[in-house]
Amino acid sequence: MAQQQESPSGAAGEVFIDDTTDAAAREEAHVSRGTVRPITVVGNPLLHKECQDVTEFGPELATLVDDMFASQRAATGAGLAANQIGVDLKIFVYDCHDDEGVRHVGHVCNPVLDELPAEQRVLDDNSEGCLSVPGAYCPTPRPDYAVVRGQDIEGKPITVEGTGYFARCLQHETDHLYGYLYIDRLSKRDRKDVMRQMAENTPRYEIVPND
Ligand SMILES: [Zn+2]
Repeated sequence: MAQQQESPSGAAGEVFIDDTTDAAAREEAHVSRGTVRPITVVGNPLLHKECQDVTEFGPELATLVDDMFASQRAATGAGLAANQIGVDLKIFVYDCHDDEGVRHVGHVCNPVLDELPAEQRVLDDNSEGCLSVPGAYCPTPRPDYAVVRGQDIEGKPITVEGTGYFARCLQHETDHLYGYLYIDRLSKRDRKDVMRQMAENTPRYEIVPND
């Protein structure tokens, strides 16, 4: 398990999880134990409702995290929420670089995003995509800084801090677990364009077909 450490960019006394040490080795260990599962896509009911809280922090949860890392790598994702492999639980995993090129690997159960003070809400306009909306991308404004509070797989409280693309990832994955996709944040016109892109492209990984 990653250790907690003081972050130089954090507020006084704030302790963030260390999710950068041994990132590659930790991701590899999860993947080697995990089983790749197919990815649910937009329209699957599990993606459009709030997931259940994680309340059991046992071996089954550890296996789920391994399977999520294996599935995330097979689909070359930067983050994956449990409902994207058909599991109704509030947990996501991530393997994502921040804007300084530092790799972050970890997971969060029962995530809640901090509300940012107005002066910290610098919007980043970069493109966003989602494994559950295969083959599509669209510029999606989001704050370029995020803090998520939740628990690790042993139930211990953790706080994760993200900047740049990693901040986007933390917001995107937390949204998933409350039943929202990034396309729900787009204008009707952009959403239509995204759905057109998805229809024109064949997914590069196995998906769960919708009925
Ligand atoms: Zn997604």
